[in-house]
This record gives sequence, C-alpha cells and structure tokens, in this order.
Amino acid sequence: MVREGLGFIGLGNMGLPMARNLLKAGHRLAGFDVVAAQLEAAAAAGARPAGSVAEATGGAEVVITMLPEGRHVREVYLGADGVLAHAAPGALLIDCSTIDVETARAVNEAAGARGLEVLDAPVSGGVAGAEGASLTFMVGGSAAGVERARPVLARMGRTVVHTGPSGNGQAAKICNNMMLGISMLGVCEAFVLAERLGLAADKLFEVSSQSSGQCWALTSYCPVPGPVPGSPANRGYRAGFTAAMMAKDLRLAQAAAQSVDAATPLGAQARQLYTLFTQGGRGNQDFSAIIKMLAGDS
Ligand code: NAD
Repeated sequence: MVREGLGFIGLGNMGLPMARNLLKAGHRLAGFDVVAAQLEAAAAAGARPAGSVAEATGGAEVVITMLPEGRHVREVYLGADGVLAHAAPGALLIDCSTIDVETARAVNEAAGARGLEVLDAPVSGGVAGAEGASLTFMVGGSAAGVERARPVLARMGRTVVHTGPSGNGQAAKICNNMMLGISMLGVCEAFVLAERLGLAADKLFEVSSQSSGQCWALTSYCPVPGPVPGSPANRGYRAGFTAAMMAKDLRLAQAAAQSVDAATPLGAQARQLYTLFTQGGRGNQDFSAIIKMLAGDS
C-alpha cells in the first residue's frame, strides 16, 4: 500500500528508525542527511535518497525533521535552499528535534508568512521508542495542524499530546527533562548515601519503590545494577539516553527559565552537575552514570 509522500530530514539515531517505521507503514519517503552512511541506511530500508533538503522537501505532502539542535533547524528551514523555500503549498511541516522554544516559534512564524505551519513535536522514549514506534509526541501548534499530523505521528509513536500553541511542545519537553535530570540526581545521591551508611541498594530499592521516594528514575531506570534488570546500570551504563543529551536539555531549560525570569535553582544545579560530568569525557555514557561522579569514582 502506498500512502502519501513524505520528506524526512535528519536520519540519525532517532530519525532513521522513525523513517523506517513510516516506510513499514507503506509511506513513500524521500530522505536526506548530510552524512552519506545515514542516507545509505535509509535507502536500504526503502527510502528514496535525496541529494539535498530541497529535493527531500519539494513535492512532499509532509516534511519531518529530526535534527540535533536549534541552529540546524534554523539552517534547514530558513536557509535559501531550505524547507520553507521549497515546501509545496499546503505541505505539513513537523519538527521533532529537541530545540529551544524561541527557535521553534521563530521558524513557525517564518512559515506563517508563507502560509505554512511548522509544528514543534519533540519526543520522549529514546532510540528504543523510535525503533518500537512507541514514542510520545508533545506537539505545539494549531489544533487543525495537530489533527492533520496525528495519523503520521501514530506510525512512529503511541501517544500524541497537543500541548498548546507553537513552542509549547518544546516547553513541555524541557520541563519534563528538567524534572527527570533533578530526580535522577536525587535517586543517585540517595544510593550513594545508603552505601556509606551500610544500607544495601536492594533494600533501599525495596523500601523506596513502595514509599514516597518512588519515581521513574528509581523504578524504571535505577542507577545501580540489580533492582531493575533492564536499566543501563546493568550493562556498564551504555546509553540509553546519553549524559550529553541530558546536559543539552538542561541547558535549554536554563535558557528558557532565564528568558521568562523563572526561578529553577535545582534545574540550575542539575545543569552544572551534568556539564561537569560530560566535560570529564563521559558524555556518551548513560545519564544515570552520573552516580559514579557523585560516589567520587574517577
Ligand atoms: P543524531 O545526531 O544521531 O541525528 C541527527 C542527524 O541529523 C544526524 O544524522 C546528522 O547528520 C543530521 N543532520 C545534521 N545537520 C543536518 C542538515 N543540515 N541536513 C540534514 N541532516 C542533518 O541525533 P539523535 O539522537 O537522532 O537526536 C535527534 C534529536 O532528537 C535531538 O534534538 C535530540 O535531542 C532529540 N532526542 C534524542 C533522543 C535520543 O535518545 N537519542 C531522545 C529524545 C529526543
């Protein structure tokens, strides 16, 4: 079954498996990435490899982008040969990257001047969620735009939440990840303290997983090996969600907090700690590995 034509730009760790799920669902898809190996991998999954952003965009009814940072999103959308310059009239544009709220709103505003809309639709769920089509999308934009996007997003994820107008998808993402960064640090500190007090990790887990300390960082992603067999701690802290990505999201949260003068003292601390951890050369490890730094391990 051949469904509507899609353009997919940014075929990295997340974008490639997301594109694969769209291909599996029967969509025609033109893909583009600046890295040839990523383009080849997409072609092997059935995508038409495009030679440029313009080629992936022209003629597509829906264009999806999954890029590293705000500057890449600005370049890909606003550049002279970018998405906005080449999008077909009425095309639906969806940016799934995690970026700053300001850029998301600026790109959408530029699209509006051409009669288009860019939804900001960052995701939660990581590479496993992208592979298993179980991502959560938090989407900022018009109600009509989000309704139009739902069937396509449903091929890549399980949950789609309309979080409000343009930029609110990114706002939800950075608020959520700031909560996660802070709660992971809290859980890590408690396990380090428990060890020093002679309290076994599995006993702390048994108590706290059924008490008021319970949270996702503890019960789904426990930073010590043992209690949650699937957590990265059981595989030498191989990511998962890298510490570098957490540092990036905490940086975005702090920039956003400053822009609206919101006091986020724990978010600021978390940002500092993750920056310290990644600058120590451990950015590629899972973000739960920060327990090693808190325990004083080199
Ligand atoms: P990645 O670096 O693996 O992939 C990004 C891809 O974009 C790369 O292949 C890169 O070559 C490509 N790219 C960069 N500039 C480009 C351009 N001008 N034109 C075309 N392609 C370009 O990153 P990722 O892990 O796939 O993450 C993508 C986004 O998703 C990030 O914003 C990240 O914060 C967010 N995110 C990642 C995860 C995760 O677990 N990896 C989870 C949630 C959200």
